[in-house]
Amino acid sequence: MYDDFILDKDYFIKVVEDIINLIEEQRDYLTDLDSAIGDGDHGFNLSIGFREVKKNLKDWQDKDLTFIFKKVGMTLLSKVGGASGPLYGSFFIKFGEAAQTKNEVNFKEFYNMFKAGIEAIEFRGKAKVGEKTMLDALKPGLDAFKDAIENDLEPKQAFEKFVEAAKKGAESTIPLVAKKGRAMRLGERAIGHLDPGAASSVMILEAFLKNMT
Ligand code: ADP
Ligand code: MG
Repeated sequence: MYDDFILDKDYFIKVVEDIINLIEEQRDYLTDLDSAIGDGDHGFNLSIGFREVKKNLKDWQDKDLTFIFKKVGMTLLSKVGGASGPLYGSFFIKFGEAAQTKNEVNFKEFYNMFKAGIEAIEFRGKAKVGEKTMLDALKPGLDAFKDAIENDLEPKQAFEKFVEAAKKGAESTIPLVAKKGRAMRLGERAIGHLDPGAASSVMILEAFLKNMT
């Protein structure tokens, strides 16, 4: 079943376009979340990065998935200030590398792309689940995705499990004290607030789900 479920380049381009739009729409919301426990720039940071992606996407889209996501990642790395730029930048670079210069991937390969991307965030940021970061959404999400695949769920259903678990994971950051990033300085005052990076991670995953048929 998973070998025959193909995600082509059109799919990935639409996803990137939707991420660009979502980040723009949610920019102020993300910034408000970051104002509560950080320095209030998360939405702004991501919007700068994804606006730059928008400007260049047309020039990249004739190339393979590895190339496209390398460019997306490098753009975020170079344009997005703050912790999230290098983290999302590494995510997209490794996400693309796992596509092994193909123009389309099957569902198992698609899972491997997320696995590689999320491992890159862990490697770069050294955060663990429970430290009030984007990984609190992404890690349980990826685990649920893996379980769903092991249990032979239909592809779209399996990805829904990913997004569902990521949402729950993001919400689980609300009562936490931050152990990484700027929010760490707040100590107990971070309690009661949703982590902005966990929120933006869920938005990114939703763009992948929305375009899946
Ligand atoms: P900054 O904190 O430098 O202003 P942003 O506001 O753009 O950067 O991003 C903040 C988000 O980055 C946090 O909400 C958190 O999810 C994420 N983050 C910060 N440090 C780490 C880390 N070491 N590992 C994973 N995610 C992190
Ligand atoms: Mg910030």
